[in-house]
Amino acid sequence: MLLDRLQAELAALDDQALRRTRRTLDTPCGPHATVDGRSMLAFCSNDYLGLAGDPQLARALAEGAARWGAGSGASHLVSGHYRVHDELEARLAAFVGMESALYLSTGYMANLGVVPALLGRGDAIFADRLNHASLVDGALLSRASLQRYPHRDLGALARLLEASDAPRKAIVTDSVFSMDGDLAPLAELLTLAERHDCWLVVDDAHGFGVLGPQGRGALAAAGLTSWRLIYVGTLGKAAGVAGAFVAGQRDVVTWLLQKMRTYIFTTGAPPALAQALLASLELIEHGDERRARLNALIEQFRAELQLTRWHLLPSTTAILPVQVGDNAETLALARALWDEGLWVPAIRPPTVPLGTARLRVSLTAAHSAEDVRRLTAALNRLECRL
Ligand code: PMP
Repeated sequence: MLLDRLQAELAALDDQALRRTRRTLDTPCGPHATVDGRSMLAFCSNDYLGLAGDPQLARALAEGAARWGAGSGASHLVSGHYRVHDELEARLAAFVGMESALYLSTGYMANLGVVPALLGRGDAIFADRLNHASLVDGALLSRASLQRYPHRDLGALARLLEASDAPRKAIVTDSVFSMDGDLAPLAELLTLAERHDCWLVVDDAHGFGVLGPQGRGALAAAGLTSWRLIYVGTLGKAAGVAGAFVAGQRDVVTWLLQKMRTYIFTTGAPPALAQALLASLELIEHGDERRARLNALIEQFRAELQLTRWHLLPSTTAILPVQVGDNAETLALARALWDEGLWVPAIRPPTVPLGTARLRVSLTAAHSAEDVRRLTAALNRLECRL
């Protein structure tokens, strides 16, 4: 029977320490949280600038709801596109140095929709092996041939591109890899895209708001501009609210408006969110102090963690993965930290490749130096006990 089979598969997940569970928070997003009834110090969120719990954004959201109501009532192309959506799209595009942008409900939807809008059967997608699941799913949905190259391996990518005779091609990459925290070689990828007449889709989920001058993102940090570039920024991480945007050359975005099914066939996000995001954009633009604080904490973590004992992956961002390898051991370490009041997620396959389970520490500007010291001290002690 189907249910027996499903239950057996759940039990098998338990055997491999792979069952996924969630914890419940009773306080707003922030380092100090009440989680499952316990006071915890959290190192889990992507709220890099500490904006998700900022009262200024909560106020903007409330003002937005008072002005625009709770919901948009329809998809954008029917009657769910409001002035504040329009204003947000224009501001986002200008902020990342693009001509035009579309605001979507989530980053997952943005990535799921953008690739199938550009490519189809017979075309080819070249994707870093560590790209986010949403980019992989978008590529699969497009029915184009999906060719994955080893992580950051430009030689392997060049060979795949040279061997391809697909009529339309796209290179697709995370800018900051979400489980490793390292950066894609964007300038080199753009050179390859130019040489082989490809689109270059960059998912800057973990770079928008954090990297580049005034947090303008990974492309601005690398000083790259081209009509080939299609930029995806997410707005539920550093921006502290929800949603995402796709930005690019004007005709490209007009094309996406015609073809991007995850934009067309879904209810527009509440306009109040767009109002909160306009306020968030102001805070991001003037957020050098928050970014400096975050960078200092990243440096501190790297300096304090005993690297002779822990395998810290070579990240320079706020995503600091401490690789353990074995699933059960990673879970045991996360539990030991939990028992000390420290919440660090254990990331296991299929989110990361088999044998590379890790503790994924993420830092935010809302952490203090003392918070980071508590974590590094606990980690350094823990390893001694194992
Ligand atoms: N891309 C990357 C690299 C991500 O890490 C995530 C979220 N974890 C997404 C896209 C999806 O964004 P959202 O959470 O807004 O759906």
